[in-house]
Amino acid sequence: MNKTLHELSNQQEFIQRHVGPDVNETQQMLEYLGLSSLDELLEQTVPNKIRLPEELNIPSARSEQSALDDIAQYAKMNKVFRSYIGMGYHHTKTPTVILRNVLENPGWYTAYTPYQPEIAQGRLEAIITYQQMSIDLTGMELASASLLDEATAAAEAMAMAKRVSKNKKSNQFFVDENAFPQTIDVIKTRAEHYGFELIFGNAKDAAEHDVFGAYVQYTDRTGEVIDLQAVIEALHEKKAIVSVGADIMSLVMLKSPGEMGADIVLGSSQRFGVPVGFGGPHAAFFATREKFKRAMPGRIIGVSIDTNERSAYRMAMQTREQHIRREKATSNICTAQVLLANIAAFYAVYHGPEGLKQIAYRIHRLAGILAHALQDKGIKLVNQTYFDTLTIDAVDQRDEIIARATEAEINLRIDNNGQLGLSIDEATTEQEIQALYQVLTGDDSALDFGDLDQRAQAHESFEKGLLRETEILQHPVFNTHHSETEMLRFLKKLENKDLSLTHAMIALGSCTMKLNATSEMLPITWKEFASIHPFAPADQTQGYQKLIEQLEGWLAEITGYDAVTVQPNSGAQGEYAGLLAIKKYHESLGQDHRNICLIPSSAHGTNPASAQMANMKVMIVNCDEQGNVDYEDLKAKAEQVSENLSCLMITYPSTHGVYEEHIKDICDVIHQHGGQVYMDGANMNAQVGITSPGLMGSDVSHLNLHKTFAIPHGGGGPGVGPIGVKAHLKPFLPNHSVRKLTSTGENNGAVSAAPFGSGGILPISWMYVAMLGKEGLTHSTKMALLNANYLTTKLSEHYPILYTGRNNKVAHECIVDLRPLKAETGITEVDIAKRLMDYGFHAPTMSFPVAGTLMIEPTESEPLCEIERFATAMISIKQEIEKVRSGEWQADNNPLTNAPHTQVDLLDWNKPYSIKEGVYPVDGQENNKFWPTANRIDDVYGDRNLMCACPSPEDYR
Ligand SMILES: *Cc1c(COP(=O)(O)O)cnc(C)c1O
Repeated sequence: MNKTLHELSNQQEFIQRHVGPDVNETQQMLEYLGLSSLDELLEQTVPNKIRLPEELNIPSARSEQSALDDIAQYAKMNKVFRSYIGMGYHHTKTPTVILRNVLENPGWYTAYTPYQPEIAQGRLEAIITYQQMSIDLTGMELASASLLDEATAAAEAMAMAKRVSKNKKSNQFFVDENAFPQTIDVIKTRAEHYGFELIFGNAKDAAEHDVFGAYVQYTDRTGEVIDLQAVIEALHEKKAIVSVGADIMSLVMLKSPGEMGADIVLGSSQRFGVPVGFGGPHAAFFATREKFKRAMPGRIIGVSIDTNERSAYRMAMQTREQHIRREKATSNICTAQVLLANIAAFYAVYHGPEGLKQIAYRIHRLAGILAHALQDKGIKLVNQTYFDTLTIDAVDQRDEIIARATEAEINLRIDNNGQLGLSIDEATTEQEIQALYQVLTGDDSALDFGDLDQRAQAHESFEKGLLRETEILQHPVFNTHHSETEMLRFLKKLENKDLSLTHAMIALGSCTMKLNATSEMLPITWKEFASIHPFAPADQTQGYQKLIEQLEGWLAEITGYDAVTVQPNSGAQGEYAGLLAIKKYHESLGQDHRNICLIPSSAHGTNPASAQMANMKVMIVNCDEQGNVDYEDLKAKAEQVSENLSCLMITYPSTHGVYEEHIKDICDVIHQHGGQVYMDGANMNAQVGITSPGLMGSDVSHLNLHKTFAIPHGGGGPGVGPIGVKAHLKPFLPNHSVRKLTSTGENNGAVSAAPFGSGGILPISWMYVAMLGKEGLTHSTKMALLNANYLTTKLSEHYPILYTGRNNKVAHECIVDLRPLKAETGITEVDIAKRLMDYGFHAPTMSFPVAGTLMIEPTESEPLCEIERFATAMISIKQEIEKVRSGEWQADNNPLTNAPHTQVDLLDWNKPYSIKEGVYPVDGQENNKFWPTANRIDDVYGDRNLMCACPSPEDYR
């Protein structure tokens, strides 16, 4: 081979694996566009005045192996102690069949949010199983498909209580003083900006106050388990809404809050098999009463029927969500925690009710054994009752105990008041109980487990009436798949129903479904990352801290900002955190009155929903025919509200997929009126290495690490939504009450339960940036532009492209306008989206930001052949529409209106077109066909006949 050693080594470079088209294909695509180079494409596309003057100050590319070696060094710097800290984060045993086949399986983690339910029946079934599990354990009637974490779920419960409480006069909300401190922290932040007054006290005294709602914790911070029935009744007398934060494992054994009359029950489902991962991601469950269904935050999966009248799942009551309701939405949550909710549901499926009971009773027994051993030794427990958590008052021996614990590599809970605590988990062994005893007492003698066990069994560790008497998890799904063979097949059966990136490109505009590389994913399940408690002492988490510091630095460099925090655990949470920073900044200047948030009409629904959470007033700015912000309207409105202008929220490149020429002027106008600019960073994939929000004059942005920075979408979450800010906003970034951050204002509240949010998946984005390096990052952006422009040009011969920018180019995505076709032929955007399934594709983003359109984003990762395959499908669909137009096919009985087709259709093919036309519209598909498992699903039927639990097998048609 006539190559230098350096050239031979190129084969190792990650960039070639990350980017779809190879050198020859890139050349071919450029030629098709009449361009000589990628740089020429850039010149034609991106306005000169916003081009970065220099390359990014980020290390050069590393091979996959050397990046893995480097991150292994960080992993080594984390010390994996045995943690009994608890506080909502417990050591858990992820069943290995779930670990390998779900958490580490791209068939599950690369899927998108199930907006196209006919090709998402697997994860929809998994999520409804999660809802059923939540309903059973909480004793409630309705559960959602996951919130972001326990603390934000508690804050959502407060907001919901305000919406539904009949005590309209009160502005006060009661909070259990023994709730977890991080929960109190997040509630405080939320209450401050809603203008609610918080009242803290002992849960038993909650009804002494005239409140619109209350939050109490069932098994509280100290471990106490009290019967809440009386206090709930008393609160109900006062027309207050009662929300209960509950420990999911204890609910297996304890009477449910639902039976005690609670209105909302929520908590973390982490300890059902999801690694602690330095604080997340974990799914929070959230359950309520049927009568509050419309006020409930987050997504809900429901049962409906398809056109063959077979039962099918899809998202229910979407009209509550921010996409439609915008600032009136029930919450700003978009990306949630689907992958983690699925894992928790599978954990329940795998163990079943009996297995879970054994686990919970064993945890409780071990806690009882230790409690007796400690009491024998004269140690007094702070909590009179317990499930798994013990708190001791050890003020005089505190330091000795902590020293012994450190020696034994054990972490205990250390409360602010000096008390010490521990929580037993499913992995705890008898040896570990012995070790805990030694640490807490200094006594080396062996415990008499036989005697202690008998006493623990006989002793009442909580009021008798609190033992659960109702059955849980009676549905067959929880009582069938208990052998590994059955579990494996169950998981595979569901996975096979879902289209993910393992099958085809998912060209979702704004969502950036790029490669989630295996090397990026590998480290997250290493125990040095997966088994670190978020509140572990700082000297045990050096590796995480270094990694996060470096990642934050890289993201700051990429965005042109001065500081970044990774705490927000979704893009929408980032928006909320960013708006709070703006608000606090104005307040620091004595400008508390600035409360108007300008938002262009094309904005994503989370923007107005988040503005509402920050208690801002939303004012809509028009867009012009080109899809740009109407500059004149913006100037006029900024002028009109000048005194009270808080900020502008703007997306760049605009949601219309073009680089707006005016962006710098827009930022200037806002600043002239004393406002701040929030740039929604969901479209960073069109900016990295080429331009930046900071350069354009913006003050703050969130990034979606699950879009631009390679974290997989998980079928609807997890996500990470870091925010970057200019220096003047840095003192207003979120802090955390349990683990104080020195990088921001001391007294700022938290927006997430964990100090670093979903820390456990940050290694993915670290690997992404490290492996691509500065050259690769910039090259990826250029290739994203090339793929988008190539596909746009191909399609433009057949469909009108709604907006283009300079030189007729688009940015990283394009909008295909289907409205004229619909007007002329009756074929709708939904027909086309569903028909794409027959071709083996997931539809692009539909009807956002413009109704009746598809927004297509191929990303840099898609190879030319896949882009051609997609173009061929779209062009073929256009020809099909022509057959409808010409009358060759019936207007209401054709492959488009009947799409998608399933194998069931083949049993009785009574259609006026051939089977091949219906299910194998492209040659060669016979060899590689992805079959939708439901025909078109009736949304309206499902919402009219709301059913959000697992249907019984008899009902399942
Ligand atoms: C995805 C997206 C968001 C919301 O981000 P989540 O992570 O889903 O909360 C906000 N704005 C735009 C433009 C988006 O595409």
